[in-house]
Parts: sequence; C-alpha cells; structure tokens
Amino acid sequence: MASSSKELPSSILIIGSGVFGLSTAYALAKRDAFKHTKITLLERMDFPAPDAASIDTSRIIRPDYPDPAYAALMAESHTHWRGDFGAEGRYTESGLCLATDHLETSTADASGTYVGKSLENVKNRLGLKVGRREDGGQVEPLASAADVNRVMASMGGDCGQSGYVNWTSGWADAEAGMRYMRQLVAATGRVEFRTAEVKRLHYSQSKVESVELVSDEHLQADLVILATGAWTPALVDLRGIASATGQAIAYIDLTQAEQARLGSSPTLLSESSGMYIIQPRSRQLKIARHGYGYANPVSIPHPERPAASGERVTVSLPRTKQSDPALAIPPEGDAACRAYLARTIPELAERPWTRTRICWYTDTPNGDWLIDYHPVYSNLFLTTGGSGHAYKFLPVVGERVVDIMLGEDRDALGAQVRRKWRWPEGKKAGEGPQHHVWTDDWRGGVKGMILDEELARREITGLEKARL
Ligand SMILES: Cc1cc2nc3c(=O)[nH]c(=O)nc-3n(C[C@H](O)[C@H](O)[C@H](O)COP(=O)(O)OP(=O)(O)OC[C@H]3O[C@@H](n4cnc5c(N)ncnc54)[C@H](O)[C@@H]3O)c2cc1C
Repeated sequence: MASSSKELPSSILIIGSGVFGLSTAYALAKRDAFKHTKITLLERMDFPAPDAASIDTSRIIRPDYPDPAYAALMAESHTHWRGDFGAEGRYTESGLCLATDHLETSTADASGTYVGKSLENVKNRLGLKVGRREDGGQVEPLASAADVNRVMASMGGDCGQSGYVNWTSGWADAEAGMRYMRQLVAATGRVEFRTAEVKRLHYSQSKVESVELVSDEHLQADLVILATGAWTPALVDLRGIASATGQAIAYIDLTQAEQARLGSSPTLLSESSGMYIIQPRSRQLKIARHGYGYANPVSIPHPERPAASGERVTVSLPRTKQSDPALAIPPEGDAACRAYLARTIPELAERPWTRTRICWYTDTPNGDWLIDYHPVYSNLFLTTGGSGHAYKFLPVVGERVVDIMLGEDRDALGAQVRRKWRWPEGKKAGEGPQHHVWTDDWRGGVKGMILDEELARREITGLEKARL
C-alpha cells in the first residue's frame, strides 16, 4: 500500500511488540478506517521480551528537549502519564535535574546547548512557571554547583556545575507501562497476538511477498509493519540509516534507609557525560549512560536478496543475555557507571553491581525516528529509530504513526513530525562509505567502540579514566 493509495489494507502484520509496535497496534485497533482489517502482532518472545529496549525498571519521562516538536509531543503524552496510563505507580513525577559540568546557565551563555535550548522550550513554549518549587515554580534554573547540589542534596556528592530542574518531569516503570499498553490493545479485541520469530522477509522488486518465520511458516499481509527495534537491520537493509548501539546500565541494591533518602530525589541527567541516575524504587538504583554506545558488527545474509545469492552484509545487531547469559557491560562502561556513582553519591562508591545490562538503541544519524513507507517496497512500513528517547511517547506515538501511514496531518505538529521521521530523502541503504550510524545528539562516551574489542579489554587507560 503506497502512501498515496486510498486503498486500505485488509490485513496488517506488525512485527515487534515494543513501544512502536504496541502503540501502533493500539491506534490501528481504535481507528474506524481499519475496522475491517485483520491486525496481527508478532513478537519473537513471550511478552514482555526481557531484552527489548522498552522493557526495564525505569525510563525518564520529560518534555525537556531542545527540539520544540518533541517537547510538544511530550506535552501531549504527559497528559496520559498523569492520568490512567501512569496510575498505580506506573508514572512518578520526581522532577528531573538536567546538569552540565560547565558554568553556563545564564540563558545567553546556554542558548546553544541542549540544556539551554530545553530550558527555553519548557519555559517559553510549554509555559512552565519559573522559580523555586517552594514558591510555586515548576522549573528552576540552577546557576551554580551549589544550586545543583542543593536540589540533589540527598545524593551528597558533586552532581554538576549548573543546569536546571524541571519538577514536572518524572519517570515510568517501563515494564509496567508496557504491560498496561498490552492490556489496552488486548481489550480492543481487534489484535491477534502471536509469539513467533521472523527469520526473514521475502522481497520482490517492489514489495514484501511473504514473511518467513523461524518455524519455516510463511505469512502474507497487505501491509507489513517493521517495529523490531534494534533488530530491524536484520530484516531490511538500513546500512547508513539506522544501527543498533549497545548502552551500558548497572544496578545496585539499596538499604531501606538509602531508599527512603534517595527515593525522593529528582532524576539526575548530565548533558556533559550522558550519565544519569533515575530515582530508585524498591531498593534498586540504576546508573546508565546515554552514549554513542557499542557497535556489534555481524556478517549476515543480505536481508533483501534471495538466500541463494550468497550476498552478505555487515551490520550491528543486538547481543543480549538471551543468547549470552554471562554477558556483562564492558570494563569501559563499568568504569563510567562506577565513576559517576562515586562522584554523585560518594557513600555508594564501592557498592557492587547486582547486575548489569547492555540495552540496545536503534540509532539514526540525528536521533530522529524513522516512521515511513519503505521507498522501494510499497507494502512495507517502518516504525523504528527510537535513538534512546521514544519510551516516553508510548501513549501517543502510535496515533502519529497511523496518521503518517494514512498520509494525514491532524495538526501542524503532525506535518512537522512526518517530515522529520521520513526515510532520508533520496538515500539508499548501503550507500556511502559509512555504514554504521553513530548518532550526534548529546552522547557521552567515545564514538567508535566495538563491543567485542571493549569486552576483551581488561583495563581502561589513564586518559580514559581522566575523561570519566
Ligand atoms: C538503556 C536505555 C535507556 C533508555 N532511556 C529512555 C528514557 O529514559 N526515556 C525514553 O523516553 N526512552 C528511553 N529509551 C528509549 C526507548 O526505550 C526506546 O526508544 C523504545 O523502547 C524503542 O522501542 P522499539 O519498539 O523500537 O524497540 P523494542 O522495545 O526493542 O521492541 C522491538 C521488539 O521487536 C521484537 N523483535 C525483534 N526482532 C524480531 C523478530 N525477528 N521477530 C519477531 N519479533 C522481533 C523484539 O523482541 C522486541 O520486543 C531508552 C533505551 C535504552 C536501551
């Protein structure tokens, strides 16, 4: 079904039950236009897949974006998080302290930075009230280290040199949010759920002819929606367009007293290093990094060529504990999490990790998502490219996806995001010298790390230590 076509599909196969897949299924199931369409949602694991990007203890829910479009979309999503969607502990409005390691909070100094632009957006476009919380303020600029550390006092360490706190931001219990969305989809009675792993798509010159499962069964649908997150490059050629990058996360256990103290602290996010610590719950604290991440290049049969062609491509794909139960974060990521914990909460500096995880982003060059028809295969639609920031939009992103699918702009924001998320104009996958995508937004860590090389290293260098 091409975007210009008026014909609606009689069958839709959504592959992947993460944020994008579930939210899209929900929006399709509710639309009158699709009331005669058979909708199937395939997921490779019994829901919830523990290694999916959408499944974790927590995700930050914030309108704090330098880009007004995401800030506006988040304002829409926020009403849901503050309502039924976020009830029963699924959403907590803890506040978010966005800190930097520079002294740059005067708006003039900060106007070009992530923090500065985000502050401008939440103040001027979303209309949040500036001032201290005790005076009724919703967003407070923090002009000095003393200000940052006052807001983050329960941590007791060095949390940054300047920044701002947004008391209207919060965090979600990520798995609980996904379970809730799954229930909403199920309650429509319109979606058939299947646990089955897709092995490959079979393409003709202009469309997807069938979807082959690992069980060798072949499925057909008028429209195939790929919502397979970081695994997507295994099913369609996305070289140079989107890549899987592994992000380091570490968890520690807290005592009851530590939970009581830190449990009322805002979430802390450093623009300078990409490191963050989300408000703990149930005596579990998470330290992680929004980084360039690790590439995991693997050689696979070309996803769009017949298997008999023997053609292979190298793409980065997730490696997770599902296939490698002993997989831990590399020493470099371990050291980064450890250094940030020691700096911000010194009394927990030596606390051992209870577990670590490499969680996989689907990164695009500038962090904008990829939500569009494939330029060649007319019945293939992609909704992916989350780039480490899509969870917070779970309640609303599906509606935007379906608008784009139908070629409808419900409002000015719709037209804006449709342009933002489209397949890069004139670009073919696999073109150009660079096939792996390293996102340039405000990432921490270093660019170019390869997972196997990092795992093989026992120690990190002094220079790297100095950078942490
Ligand atoms: C460490 C980390 C921290 C993050 N922090 C935040 C945050 O604070 N705030 C925020 O808003 N966002 C955050 N994000 C981003 C957000 O979680 C993701 O953008 C979002 O969850 C991506 O959803 P998805 O549907 O693309 O992918 P996924 O959730 O990974 O879903 C893809 C699904 O497809 C399935 N699948 C894959 N291949 C196949 C196949 N062949 N056959 C069948 N099924 C298949 C998988 O099992 C999986 O369930 C974070 C992400 C990570 C990794």
